[in-house]
Amino acid sequence: MALIVQKYGGTSVGSLDRIRNVAARIQRTVEAGNQVVAVVSAMGGVTDRLIAMARELAPEPPEREMDVLLATGEQQSIALLSMALRTLGVEAVSVTGRQAGIQTTGSHTRGRIDRIDPVWMNRELGEGRTLIVAGFQGITGEGLIHTLGRGGSDLTAIAVASAVGADVCQILTDVDGVYTCDPRVVPNARKLPEISYDEMLEMASSGSKVMQSRSVEFAKKYGVVFEVRSSLNENPGTMVLEEHPAMENVVIRGVSIERSQARVTITGIPDEPGMSGRILGVLAEAEINIDMIVSNIAHDGMARHSFTMHMNDLGRAQVALKPVLTDVGPEAAIETEAGIAKLSCVGIGMRSHSGVAARMFQALGDAGINIGMISTSEIKIAVTVDETRIEDAARAVHDVFGLDKAPA
Ligand code: ADP
Ligand code: ASP
Ligand code: MG
Repeated sequence: MALIVQKYGGTSVGSLDRIRNVAARIQRTVEAGNQVVAVVSAMGGVTDRLIAMARELAPEPPEREMDVLLATGEQQSIALLSMALRTLGVEAVSVTGRQAGIQTTGSHTRGRIDRIDPVWMNRELGEGRTLIVAGFQGITGEGLIHTLGRGGSDLTAIAVASAVGADVCQILTDVDGVYTCDPRVVPNARKLPEISYDEMLEMASSGSKVMQSRSVEFAKKYGVVFEVRSSLNENPGTMVLEEHPAMENVVIRGVSIERSQARVTITGIPDEPGMSGRILGVLAEAEINIDMIVSNIAHDGMARHSFTMHMNDLGRAQVALKPVLTDVGPEAAIETEAGIAKLSCVGIGMRSHSGVAARMFQALGDAGINIGMISTSEIKIAVTVDETRIEDAARAVHDVFGLDKAPA
């Protein structure tokens, strides 16, 4: 008998028929002699609708109340799925974040799992029950509800798998696994049999929303091996695990895209110690995530810093930066550009292969696509391009590295 944690995402439980399908899958797994803990998302579109309703009432809804509101999405789906399982004769019980003992820290709407106290879950498992756990929610030390950021049910699943000591952790979704690029963008993208934590993390944090990036960080930290696979068929999926030497033979594992990005450039910064820290410090205080950072000295001897962020943060960033600009010097000014997107190539093989950036940039040049900013890490090369060209860019880069073909 294996203890299996299965996570079902929003599309997989998006209608009553889909919920019946999930119930039947869980029933099959249980009847095969396993114990199941299913972590479930809100029905597809529900979280978005709740957010839209809140914003209609209040442009900046209080985050404490947002958490209370958003957590209801998952509570609907756990109750419905448990009912569907009961009609099939499976003794299932719904489990909220609080009952699952998911303790969080951090801010409202962006809670972090601090620890899981699985006493309640272990007792129910001991009674032979199937557990249907609400994804995306936890409880603070003071007993307040927290949600875990968009896509947070992935994190719940990985953390629950670690807490209950699951033998298998499966992330069941609407694609067959992790592909070399989002198959909705690159139709000939190929399903990967395996991917390392570091590659999955880089892909997730650069736009491949098949996994929430924090969940991958957690999996790596606690050594939770998991499989991404479809909730609609029995095809084998993609194993996500610690890298092994054979993985380095592949130069590029995958390509990610991220739309709705904006660039902020600050010019006229005196070339002195402390300036970058001051500028980025206010953005950090405002909890604005910035991504690519490029800094150089212009011909007038003044420094300029550029960075990218999500377009939704641009307004807040401008407000936060305004007082600093006066502080930094009389010539400091801010320029912004919206409507850009980011394209990233990821692969641990880059550590031992050279010329990757050149091939990527040539492919973009041949496709007539202009590159804006460039940033690199040990296993990633990322560029910004005009958002209208991002899909062409992804296909050109996917083609040049022959990612549609299985490596020899
Ligand atoms: P769920 O509701 O199950 O959490 P998501 O919508 O969050 O599912 O994630 C699945 C989606 O991720 C797919 O439908 C696919 O369009 C998208 N996606 C983006 N990049 C990739 C990739 N590299 N491989 C597979 N799917 C990807
Ligand atoms: N329901 C939440 C969301 O839509 C969490 C999740 O689905 O993982 O982001
Ligand atoms: Mg998801």
